[in-house]
Amino acid sequence: MLARALHEVLQQLDNAAQRSGRPCPRLLAASKTQAAAAVAELLAAGQRAFGENYVQEARAKQAELGAAAAAIEWHLIGHLQSNKARAAAALFDWVQTLDRPTLVDALARHRAPTRPPLNVLIQVNIDDESSKHGCHPGAIATLAAAIAAQPRLALRGLMAIPAPHPDSERRRPAFRRMQQLFDALALQHPQIDTLSMGMSDDYAIAIEEGATMVRVGTALFGAREHGRQLSTAND
Ligand SMILES: *Cc1c(COP(=O)(O)O)cnc(C)c1O
Repeated sequence: MLARALHEVLQQLDNAAQRSGRPCPRLLAASKTQAAAAVAELLAAGQRAFGENYVQEARAKQAELGAAAAAIEWHLIGHLQSNKARAAAALFDWVQTLDRPTLVDALARHRAPTRPPLNVLIQVNIDDESSKHGCHPGAIATLAAAIAAQPRLALRGLMAIPAPHPDSERRRPAFRRMQQLFDALALQHPQIDTLSMGMSDDYAIAIEEGATMVRVGTALFGAREHGRQLSTAND
């Protein structure tokens, strides 16, 4: 059943990419609140990259998945508290929510020398909402330089969650600004290859505006239970 949803979403990504003459983006399965069994089912269907919002939930899910967890590329897509940086550096292959200098040092210090460098995206507060996480666009360059100076971290690009306007078309300008920030950053850091933006209800627009990775939950797994979706107390 999830395999079918996966193939439908992949088809949609491909259609949007073709329409806009852009390469097909990578699909990140946003698996917060989903059972380990659902993750295993998508993995068996060929999906490899999964995004989790909470450190504890990721740890529990990885333990439950056992050996299968090693086949997954784990992305942290939820806000990261500094006191969880050690756990995040151990549990994830990517951290998409790096948004302040203290996290650069904390993640670099805790990334084990036996592992490949931790891939990081700078989360940008593209709509300047005081309630949201992410750095100000004007802070990207300084943060990127700090990351690039850390051999235990690999700067891969930018991530954003635009304001949830009910008309998804209204998010297009934010996606467009992200593409411009990405291009500007690539002048200084030509190795960056990832612009993570777009979710279930707006990924086609994000792809048209240059997303190279979309983070999709609901369209793959179905609707989440409301209470757990809003729980951000721990991370
Ligand atoms: C939950 C989540 C998603 C996926 O959202 P859907 O609307 O269910 O596709 C993407 N990105 C982040 C950061 C999320 O927390």
